[in-house]
Amino acid sequence: MHAFHRLYQQRKSISTKAYKSRGWKVKRCEFCRLAEEFCICELRQQCNSNCSFLLLMSDDEVLKPSNTGRLIADVIPDTHAFIWHRTEVNDDLLSLLQDDKYQPFLVFPSEYASEQQRVYNQQPDVLEHSKIPLFILIDATWRQAKRIFRKSEYLAQLPIVSIESVLAESATECSNPVNNSAEQVHQKQHRTALNYDSRYQLRKAEKPGQLGTAEVAAKVLQLFGENESATLLDLWFDVFSFRYQQAVKQTNKANPRAVENFQRFINERTLK
Ligand SMILES: [Zn+2]
Repeated sequence: MHAFHRLYQQRKSISTKAYKSRGWKVKRCEFCRLAEEFCICELRQQCNSNCSFLLLMSDDEVLKPSNTGRLIADVIPDTHAFIWHRTEVNDDLLSLLQDDKYQPFLVFPSEYASEQQRVYNQQPDVLEHSKIPLFILIDATWRQAKRIFRKSEYLAQLPIVSIESVLAESATECSNPVNNSAEQVHQKQHRTALNYDSRYQLRKAEKPGQLGTAEVAAKVLQLFGENESATLLDLWFDVFSFRYQQAVKQTNKANPRAVENFQRFINERTLK
């Protein structure tokens, strides 16, 4: 069980009615939230990352089977998850932001930064010695995310890693030469992502270029030089996306080799 699983259990326990999204009658795995016969839990692998994530989730996002923020918690061991509330702030959330162990960054479009808010467009060289970067991702619809940002004073103090720069960085990464390793094959497939097209086919994008939360996290990891963690998370996202679409029996736009690619990457990683 990780932070998201605990948050989900807690949220579900106070639900008075079932969350009726599409396919709400389907019997789902309690952990990956896919229909039981498409469960991916057996495949799950964590990585050794020096980064941490904090998911600040809207109340309904926690219950949505199509949520991808939780994929971050699957892969990155030090991931925290909280539900955002308009009127109260979770004490554990505040103490994390103040913890000396961490250097927090909010991942958000820079155009929303206030005047006193520092904006980073690349990996900051001011990363304080031995501090762990803690990336805060608002996991919600875009409309909700803007509101959460506006109404949370504790976020207005934090430096911003701009989403635009995260995307731009991934575009240059994709132009690397290609050999046959799973990682490179993966990058080759992503050349088409130069225009920031999301592989997130599970929901309609609210605006062009909008990425799933896990996709954004993978790009942040890449920006901070953690290519292996980034690739693992990206491949895991593909596995989830493929199985999810298989389960709902919609036209599957995900990579049909997602599971194979993921396993190949894991095997190559263990051989190193
Ligand atoms: Zn499962």
